[in-house]
Amino acid sequence: SPRLSSALARIAPSQTTAMTDRATELRAQGRDIISLSVGEPDFDTPFHVVAAMKAALDSGQTRYTPVGGTAAMKRAAALHFERDLGIAIDVAQVTVSAGGKQAIFHALLATLDPGDEVVIPAPWWVSYPEIVRFAGGTVVPLPTRPETGFHFSAADLAAVVTPRTRWLLLNSPGNPTGAVFTAEDICAVAAVMEAHPELLVMSDDIYAPLTYTGAPHATLAALRPDLADRVLTVSGVSKSHAMTGLRIGVATGPEWLIRAMERLQSHSSGNPCSISQAGAVAAFEGPQDFLADWRERFRQRRDLVVSRINAIPGLSTPVPQGAFYCFVDASPLIGGMLADDGALALHLLEHGVAVVAASAFGGGHCGLAGFRISFAASEDQLNAAIDRIEKAVSAL
Ligand code: PLP
Repeated sequence: SPRLSSALARIAPSQTTAMTDRATELRAQGRDIISLSVGEPDFDTPFHVVAAMKAALDSGQTRYTPVGGTAAMKRAAALHFERDLGIAIDVAQVTVSAGGKQAIFHALLATLDPGDEVVIPAPWWVSYPEIVRFAGGTVVPLPTRPETGFHFSAADLAAVVTPRTRWLLLNSPGNPTGAVFTAEDICAVAAVMEAHPELLVMSDDIYAPLTYTGAPHATLAALRPDLADRVLTVSGVSKSHAMTGLRIGVATGPEWLIRAMERLQSHSSGNPCSISQAGAVAAFEGPQDFLADWRERFRQRRDLVVSRINAIPGLSTPVPQGAFYCFVDASPLIGGMLADDGALALHLLEHGVAVVAASAFGGGHCGLAGFRISFAASEDQLNAAIDRIEKAVSAL
């Protein structure tokens, strides 16, 4: 009989995608569903990006490009790393892939052997543990709590790092919590790296332009260039430039790792889409001033969601400092009618709102049960969705 590989058997489908698909299905059946499950800005892709892609099409840029991106694309990515993240690098240390997700996938696949441990602060982005397991690695959760802003100390980290730890995965601003690391948090990580010379750190900075703290973005490779040869920084245009469907992600790190990722990519997807690369060049090289406006609009929506959620008995959320998610604790509601937060998410779906259960993000490792709301939706939609959540909760 047909048989799947043992590598595939180790992973589950993405629960965020599953919830979004279920909402789409219900909508196709005529149900009125507001989806706050997907991690995608609702703003239009900037006009100059679209224009650059049209021009690329018209000038016949429809052929293979170098596997790791065109020279122009790599220059634009290097500009982004230096200008926006403070990481000064050579273009040889840059690679470009089909979304940030593929860069992470290739980096882990290229470096993990069975038994290698990967420390992931929880709550985590859904794909991290699945990619680690697919690559044969072992997931080591590093639980964090809302009371500490989902931060961890050097001692917390040191307690879970062993000689078998290959990677620590960092994500700031974080999905699903909106937690933003300070320079002090990064220093704590650097101290543990000094004690463990084999440890690599992945810094997923894909939400960096979307912070509401006013403080400059803090990232490991910029703050500690002396450790940068053990840091892979991942970024992109999906979230910052509303280009999720165009599938461009960028990464920078030591050349051995960048070349290894490209070696793998040369046999998987090959080059990232030529037209999307032209769009990403325009995104990085063009005006960035629209971002201030987007940030402000996200901040207003965040404040709306935080104040309304915290007014509902049984629900609570800290104030996210970045990205566009609220991680809502609903543990007082679990038990009785609802066995777990998966059941709560289905209950909310019945009331017309799609969210993703906290368990999909490893919430259970932190003793948290609840759900993630994406506030990348209009204020009218957010208000209508929270009205429904309020009704659904009072029906319990
Ligand atoms: N990293 C994090 C933390 C994300 O939330 C996402 C998207 O949801 C990605 C990476 C991947 O983004 P992309 O669409 O560029 O693959």
